Amino acid sequence: MIKKRYTNPYIKNIRRSVWHFLRWQWGHYDDVLPIAAPPADFSYPVPRKEIKPDEPKVVWVNHSTFLIEIDGVRILTDPIWAKRCSPLSFIGPKRSHDPSLTIDGLPEIDAVLISHNHYDHLDVQSVKALNKRFPHIKWFVPVGLRKWFEKRGILHVKELRWWEETFLHIPSKGAKFWISSVPAQHHSGRGLFDANQSLWMGFVVKALRNGSPNKCFYFVGDTAYNKYDFKKIGEIFPQIDLCLCPIGTYKPSRFMLTVHSSPEDAVQIHQDVKSALSIGMHWKTFKLSDEGPSRPPYDLYLAMKKYNLTLEKFLPLEPGIEINW
Ligand code: ZN
Ligand code: ZN
Repeated sequence: MIKKRYTNPYIKNIRRSVWHFLRWQWGHYDDVLPIAAPPADFSYPVPRKEIKPDEPKVVWVNHSTFLIEIDGVRILTDPIWAKRCSPLSFIGPKRSHDPSLTIDGLPEIDAVLISHNHYDHLDVQSVKALNKRFPHIKWFVPVGLRKWFEKRGILHVKELRWWEETFLHIPSKGAKFWISSVPAQHHSGRGLFDANQSLWMGFVVKALRNGSPNKCFYFVGDTAYNKYDFKKIGEIFPQIDLCLCPIGTYKPSRFMLTVHSSPEDAVQIHQDVKSALSIGMHWKTFKLSDEGPSRPPYDLYLAMKKYNLTLEKFLPLEPGIEINW
C-alpha cells in the first residue's frame, strides 16, 4: 500500500533529502558573510514585572516546551526533557542547559500539544513519563500520529488536520477551550522511510469564560515564513494575546529558510497575526544549525528595530522566567 505523504502548498522543494544534508555539512549552502557573535555588551531588555497569580501565566521550559496556565488549566507544548534530540541516546544534538522544570516537579498537566514528530518535538521518554504521572492528559497531535501514541498505550489522543477545530472541556476546573490546528511550512519524519507521512502544524487555543471568548494563544510549531499562512491565521483569529514563535535554526539561510524561520521571519509572523505579546522558542537548548546560541536574541533585536516595534512585545525569555500574558 502506498502511504500518503503530506506536502507544503507554497513551496515544492524543501531540500531535505540525505543529499541536501550532506551538501549542508560540506558547506555548499554557507552564507557569504561569516556569522558574527553579537556585541559583547548586548543583552535584550526584558522588563521584570510582578506575577499576578490569577492571571494567565507562561514559562519556557526549554526548546519548544512551554507550560501555559489559564483558568486553572495547564497545557504543555512539544515536551522534551531528553539529554539529546535523536533516535539514539548516545549520539545526536546534546542539550546545552537543563530544563527549567522537572517532570516530577510539574503541577498537574491537563493537555499537551504536539506540533510534529521530529525528535526535538516528540520525545518518547518525555511522553511516557508525562503519561505515567498524568494518565488523563489529553493529547492533540497532527494527523498520522495517533498510532504512535496508541502503540505506547496512550489513548486520549485527538488527531487534527489543518484548519480543524476541537473542544477541550475540563469539567473539574469548569474550563472550556477551542483548540484549532493551523498550517505551518515544515516537514516530518523520524526515520529514513517515513518522510512526511504525518502532518506538521501550529495550534490556536481560545479560552472561553462563561461561554464568551477570553484569552487566546498561538503555538506556532516549527515553520518557515510565507506570505499566506500567517496573514490568514491573523484574519481568522483576530485576537492573539500570546504567540510562541520559533527564532532559532536559521543559518545557513539558503538551507534553513524552506522550513525554519529566522528572528526577522518571526517578527513578520508576530505582525501578520497581530500578536499582543510574542515569546521566542526553538533556540538555545539544542544546536541544530550554524548560528550560535547567543545570536537569535540579537537578530530579534535588530528585526524589532528595523520594523520600529516595541521591544517588550517580543521577548527572548530565558528558561524558567514566568510571566503573565
Ligand atoms: Zn521540525
Ligand atoms: Zn524543531
